[in-house]
Amino acid sequence: MLLEAIEHRPKGNWASAIGPGTVELRIRTKRDDVRDVSVLAGDKYAWDRTSVLLPMRKFASDALFDYWRAPVTPPYRRLCYAFRIVDGESEMWLTERGFSPDKPAGPQHLFEYPYINPCDIFEPPAWVKDAVFYQIFPERFANGDPSNDPEGVEPWGGEPTPSNFFGGDLQGVIDHLDYLAELGVTAIYFTPVFEAPSNHKYDTRDYLKVDPHFGTNEKLKELVDACHARGIRVLLDAVFNHAGRTFPPFQDCLEKGEKSRYADWFHVREWPLSVKDGIPTFETFAFTDHMPKFNTENPEVQEYLLGVARYWIEEAGIDGWRLDVANEVDHKFWRKFRDTVKSVKPDAYILGEIWHDALPWLQGDQFDAVMNYPFTTAVLDFFVERTLDAKGFADRLGRLLASYPTRATEVAFNLLGSHDTPRLLTRCGGNTALMKLAALVQFTFVGVPCIYYGDEIGLTGGHDPGCRKCMEWDPARQNRDLLGFYRWLIALRRGAEALRTGEFRVLRAEPGDRVFAYARVAGEEQYAIVVNNQDRPASAQIPLGEGKWTDVRTREALDVPGGLADVDLEPFGFRVWYKTAG
Ligand code: CA
Repeated sequence: MLLEAIEHRPKGNWASAIGPGTVELRIRTKRDDVRDVSVLAGDKYAWDRTSVLLPMRKFASDALFDYWRAPVTPPYRRLCYAFRIVDGESEMWLTERGFSPDKPAGPQHLFEYPYINPCDIFEPPAWVKDAVFYQIFPERFANGDPSNDPEGVEPWGGEPTPSNFFGGDLQGVIDHLDYLAELGVTAIYFTPVFEAPSNHKYDTRDYLKVDPHFGTNEKLKELVDACHARGIRVLLDAVFNHAGRTFPPFQDCLEKGEKSRYADWFHVREWPLSVKDGIPTFETFAFTDHMPKFNTENPEVQEYLLGVARYWIEEAGIDGWRLDVANEVDHKFWRKFRDTVKSVKPDAYILGEIWHDALPWLQGDQFDAVMNYPFTTAVLDFFVERTLDAKGFADRLGRLLASYPTRATEVAFNLLGSHDTPRLLTRCGGNTALMKLAALVQFTFVGVPCIYYGDEIGLTGGHDPGCRKCMEWDPARQNRDLLGFYRWLIALRRGAEALRTGEFRVLRAEPGDRVFAYARVAGEEQYAIVVNNQDRPASAQIPLGEGKWTDVRTREALDVPGGLADVDLEPFGFRVWYKTAG
């Protein structure tokens, strides 16, 4: 037993309140090193009659470690605990004091989750884990009202540049909601819609006004109502890290310098506001002098931005916020933001834009989830970059599952591209068969899938601005096969509880191999997925386990002698099976 590999700490992702009176405990051990882990748990004031030994389940593995978990529901909300770790020959107990071969005699010196306060329970909105998201860049989705087009608008379908306009608007989205409903999406994330000079609107001028080129505040309400009528929820983009240069308080600072009443609204290093040797004398997004960073520690700024967050929920009925550059804004602000948003709409979804490990924001007091770029990278490394073999891919996915509290992982925003990355089909070199495999994993992994507009009909494009092309609405120019695949994929996920919330289990992930198989398990309901990530056929044995397995697409029964399925897969082929009782 390698004691050095064993890790547990109270709170964080190692001990999180997952429901009324219930804490999920986790512990890490060296991979394939120990046979069995259990947790001795009870109430420290009533140890003798409350302490129980509960089994823990290995729920994830990465290259170095196994991760075990167990839900624990102490009788009086107070919890203290110790771990029992067993390998072939020995058993070891882990408490706050370290390792010992002896079972703790009482509750002294155990780990503690002192009290499960109801408001500390991490409870993301229940609807999110069942959702299928669709991301819309409003300037490029559809032009439903030529009368509001910006000056110099270019013909729909032209080449995007950093600064040109094509006239997309909110009416265009309303006009195509039936398309989205038929596709099966249940939530839309809009990049910014508030008044701003640029085509992307990340340089806000007026946070309380829909951009006139997109429509009016009334039009946004109409759009949200029309979405809700179709069972589609709406997420808007909160650009609260920075304003735009034309934002009136910043204009006031430009004009009046440090005498401006808004002087403390921004982080100014040196007055007057200027740019020296390419570096602004005030804090900005990156070094972009038209995006001045807000001083979110200023109470007036807080009041203003929290007012904006509240306004659009109350006025337009939106269902949540995506938070731009969320990790550069202070934690105190985000805690206030959460309190404000949840007080107006308890089931609003708060989604942070963080590209890296985001555990500090995922404790239940700030965000519900983050844009899961580590998932994106893992999928691209396996399918596109091909720097991972099946085992490496499984290890990366396992690590993701262990990174955050379970409640956050279940609602992680799993995307394979966005307005900030090259498009998936372009990354796949135009190979739609390969793209389908990546999307299949996206829709059958833990977390919430999001389609970047147009990916489903084969839109291509490299880095920004290439990835911001106009949506193609001519059926003759859409990839209808791909669209049919996405419809099937969405219906598959929406029809299967196990694919949304089931436990993830790796079935086959061999070193040097490009066949990867896994299962999603929710009680009796089980699905198994295998992908052949290579340009040649493969024969593989998949340990599905005993039972009656049926191919989801052909409805053909599968032979599993001894629980093993022998499968022949086409180049870039895949199978999805489900298990039925009996
Ligand atoms: Ca328009």
